Order: sequence, then C-alpha cells, then structure tokens
Amino acid sequence: MYNPNASGGNNTVAGNRLFVYEVEGLGQDGNGQDAPIRRSGTQTMTVPYNRMNEEMQRITRLGGKIVNIRPLTGEDWNNQAASANGSQAQESKPAEASKSMTQAKPETKGEAKGKTSAKASEKKKVPVNIYRPKNPFVGKCLSNEGLVREGGSGRVQHLKFDISAGDLEYLEGQSIGIIPPGEDDKGKPHKLRLYSIASTRHGDDGDDKTVSLCVRELEYQHPETGETVYGVCSKFLCDLKEGDDVSITGPVGKEMLLPDDEHANVIMMATGTGIAPFRAFLQRMFEEKHEDYKFKGKAWLIFGIPYTANILYKDDLEKMQAEYPDQFELTYAISREQTNADGGKMYLQHRIQENADRVWELVQQPNTHTYICGLKGMEGGIDEGMSSAASKQGVDWSDYQKQLKKAHRWHVETY
Ligand code: FAD
Repeated sequence: MYNPNASGGNNTVAGNRLFVYEVEGLGQDGNGQDAPIRRSGTQTMTVPYNRMNEEMQRITRLGGKIVNIRPLTGEDWNNQAASANGSQAQESKPAEASKSMTQAKPETKGEAKGKTSAKASEKKKVPVNIYRPKNPFVGKCLSNEGLVREGGSGRVQHLKFDISAGDLEYLEGQSIGIIPPGEDDKGKPHKLRLYSIASTRHGDDGDDKTVSLCVRELEYQHPETGETVYGVCSKFLCDLKEGDDVSITGPVGKEMLLPDDEHANVIMMATGTGIAPFRAFLQRMFEEKHEDYKFKGKAWLIFGIPYTANILYKDDLEKMQAEYPDQFELTYAISREQTNADGGKMYLQHRIQENADRVWELVQQPNTHTYICGLKGMEGGIDEGMSSAASKQGVDWSDYQKQLKKAHRWHVETY
C-alpha cells in the first residue's frame, strides 16, 4: 500500500484526505508497489490528496490505467488497520477522508443523525416544500429590473419579492415554484413553474425578507401559424409591477446547494438564466460578507451568452472579479461575437475545451465542486472537453464523473 507518510503526508487538512485508486495494467513488480492484485486484474492503492496528480502521472508513465477513484472509506480503513502491513495512513481518520466529498449535500437533521462528524450535525437543515401548490405563499413584487442591455436579444428580468409576511426560507441553489394566475386551455388552474433562486438565503437586502429570481421571457414563433407566442409564467413574471401579488411554492431542490466548506473550490458553468444560482453563490462569497460564511476557496464562472449586452449581472460580476482577482475567475463565451479555435461560434463548451486541462486539474482536487446550470444539452460539450483532458492521464472521464456525482461534487440542473 502507498505510504502517505513517506511522501509528505502530514497533518494538514489536505494531507489527511486519502483516496483509493483502482488501477489496471501495472505488474506486481515493485512499480505497482505491493498492492494485491484483485480477481478483476486491478490493484488498489491509497493516495493522499496532495499526491493525486503526481501519482496519476506515474501510473500513466508505467502503462497503467486508473479505472476508479474514490475517497477512502471507513471500511477501507478497517481493512487497512487489520492488514499485516499496517499502513501508516492511520494518522488520517476515515471520517476526515470522506467528509470533503459530501459537503455539498447538506443533510436534514434526520439524515445527519448517527454521523460522528460534529460539523454534520451543525449543518443548517435544508428547507423543502414549506409552501405547497394547494396553499401557496402570496408575496409581493418589490422590484422588476431588466438585465439585457441595448443590442442584446430577448428579455430577462431580475425580480425581487417580499416574503416577510410568511415562513418561506431557502438556501442558495434551491428553486421556488411560481403559479401564474388564470387557467390553462383545459380550464384548469395553471401549474407551477420552477425558477432557480438568484439571491442568497439572506435576500438581496440582507434582511431575510426577500427572494429574487432571474427570469427570461419565453418567446417563440408558433411553428404552424407563425404567430408570436409568449410563455405563460415567464411573461407573467417579466410583466410584474411593484406591489403585484405572486403565488410562491417551495422551496425545492438539494442538487445545487453550495458546499458549507468555506475552503471549497467552486466551478460554475452557466448558460443564460443558468446564472441564477451562481449569482446567489457569488453574492454570498464576495458581496454579502455575512458572519455565517467567509469564503476562502476559489470560484470560477464560465458563462455562455449570445451577446455582450446579454451578460446578466455584468457589472456585479466584473466588480467582484476586480476586487477578488485571486479568488474569482470570470470567463465569458459570447457566441455571436467571439470565435472558437475552428473559426465557429464561441459556445461555453469551447471555453471548457480550451481550459480543459485546468478544469480537469481543479476537478481532481477533493474540495472542488462543479456546477452546471442552464440550457438542456449543454453537458455534451463539457463532457467532450473533460474527456480529452482526463484521457491524457489515462483516466476514463465517464467513470470519473460517476465517482464525482456519487461524491456529490458534480452538480447539474438544466431545463
Ligand atoms: P409555457 O407557457 O409553459 O410554455 C412552454 C412550452 O412552450 C414548452 O413546453 C413548449 O411546448 C413550448 N415551446 C417553447 N419554445 C418553443 C419553440 N421554440 N417552438 C415551439 N414551442 C415551444 N427559467 C428562467 O427563466 N429562469 C430560471 O432561473 C429558471 N430556473 C429553472 C429551474 C428549474 C429546476 C427548472 C425545471 C426550470 C427553470 N426555468 C427557469 C424554466 C421555467 O420553469 C419555465 O419552464 C419557463 O419560464 C417557461 O415557462 P412558461 O410558463 O413561460 O412557458
């Protein structure tokens, strides 16, 4: 087994996180260390966080292929402790090793029950379905501001609602439902539509009394009549005036929650209104400065939009980047104005492909969480970029991505 102490494993937080590599194609000749060869022909080796890249390169150099990477579990730990070679990795506790991989999945109090980590039990409960469609909360529109500047396409609005009269609370990354007034073509009340929350849990005014959304008005030509059709709920929202009522349900969603870990690295990939949850994340990291969260990690937003005039929250984003250049990286993919390496339109996936090696390096760090939000279909190009970067180190991206999903470090919400 790999000996973390011999390689600089130490008592730093990072050094204490251990991972298990399952490798094929390495002989038991010293190069593959003395890891037992399993029936499947693969070997496992324990690698500390701070040696992950180095070890990956070494394995690739020796002609091996990593088929699986996972955090060291308590079971592994027990096996190791019981084994004759008595790995010195015992300095690191299994709970410590796996903790970082689950931070983006805040548990309810019930779920957290039984866990030994004191921090887990301290986590804020994730609120869900405080208001249901049969009994929605009726809030008031406080403001409705256009986000698309002159020369941009479509209409996207930032809406702020007063929720002070109810019990609605939420976390960054959750969504709320909006029930548009009126009836559908079958004479039934309209069904709710979901919208990602664009404000932090404390609201845009920091007083816990508001919730905000970022809504694009759906507009298209009817395929048969050619008539302009507007989406029911998005038009209702984009037309709201100050003081208008709005029926709200929820909140819902646990997929896109921001990790509690203030040292986490957060990669955000957004198209259009997919920026909504990331606006909330970034406000929390760099603007709000609330006592309950002091972000110390790195944030990288890769944002795809058609025109410069469509860069939603542009001034805020660029101000944050100017103020926190070491912590916040901002990359645009402006499809109608920029060209990719092949001379075609610059979509988000091309930026991912351009930066694939850096994204891949970051993604491998156990405290990195990657979030994707926006248009359905945007994942394909991202996977292509990640796949080519991972394959340079002999790693199968789709297997690796499965592990990231399992570890709650790869978060996707597309619509
Ligand atoms: P509807 O009146 O419901 O019309 C939609 C229907 O129009 C489609 O089902 C389709 O049948 C038809 N249609 C649409 N385009 C065309 C076309 N080109 N040609 C022919 N027919 C077409 N939206 C946001 O703006 N911001 C958000 O933050 C946001 N977050 C979301 C989060 C989640 C988890 C989900 C699931 C969705 C989110 N949405 C968001 C989308 C939102 O829920 C609605 O789907 C969207 O606003 C459209 O609703 P609508 O009532 O305006 O359109």
